[in-house]
Amino acid sequence: MYTDRLNEQHSLLEEEYFYKKDRELIEKMHEAERKKQELLARTAHYHKCGCCGHDMKETVHDDLQFLQCQHCENVQVSMEMLEVMSQGKKLKNLISELQVRKQAEEEEQKASA
Ligand SMILES: [Zn+2]
Repeated sequence: MYTDRLNEQHSLLEEEYFYKKDRELIEKMHEAERKKQELLARTAHYHKCGCCGHDMKETVHDDLQFLQCQHCENVQVSMEMLEVMSQGKKLKNLISELQVRKQAEEEEQKASA
């Protein structure tokens, strides 16, 4: 009788131990899956436009580097480049350059249509 109760207690402790170990493993697997999904989502959005989702192209103009959307012309710029752009008339010149480029592309499209 006494040994039965001891065995029962022992198997309960064993069950609890393996339950905890299983929970830990499941938690680890969920964490790994969450990290994997987060990485996939990040890489899927790399160099994609935040407004329309199309590809962004690395563009350099007057030593200024930025990304520009190939579809909606949204511009993505780093803080460092923004600081450089704010000096002198660089930002104004860049906007003019981008507008000239857009007009040229539109005229090109009209000509080919
Ligand atoms: Zn876009």
